[in-house]
Amino acid sequence: MSNPVAIRELFGPIAKHTSCTFPGCTTATCEYKPFCPEHVLEMLYASHVAKKSDDYDAEIADVAAHGWTSVDEGGELARDVMLYVHDYGVGSAEKIARECLLDVKVVQSVCDALLEIGVFRSVTTKRRVVVYQFADDDFDMNSIWKGRLPDPMPNN
Ligand SMILES: [Zn+2]
Repeated sequence: MSNPVAIRELFGPIAKHTSCTFPGCTTATCEYKPFCPEHVLEMLYASHVAKKSDDYDAEIADVAAHGWTSVDEGGELARDVMLYVHDYGVGSAEKIARECLLDVKVVQSVCDALLEIGVFRSVTTKRRVVVYQFADDDFDMNSIWKGRLPDPMPNN
């Protein structure tokens, strides 16, 4: 629905913006749009990130409350833990928690869930620290990236 007359009939008068409403931007806009091409993308991206952030906090709270059985192995939380282990090859729950700024009990639950489905295996080091690594050395990292945030669209 891009016909201003049709929109007005449905929703009443529409605001007529002649410049971008993004803080600090004075770029003129066409067709009374509230954002210039550069900032409409930032606004969409910001709302996407904010939504993701809310989901992430909810996921952490759920795992903190209910333990490993509530871990979504395809979720953002599991992905962050897997990405850490992929980057460093191995990690203890304490180390992963510290590096990912997560609660150690939450990370432990994620590792337990990934052990349960066979994505991780655990090894006890000589210093009696339990560390986690991928059970399969050829684990497909692309499977981790599914559902990630889209790249910000290029400014033009
Ligand atoms: Zn702008």
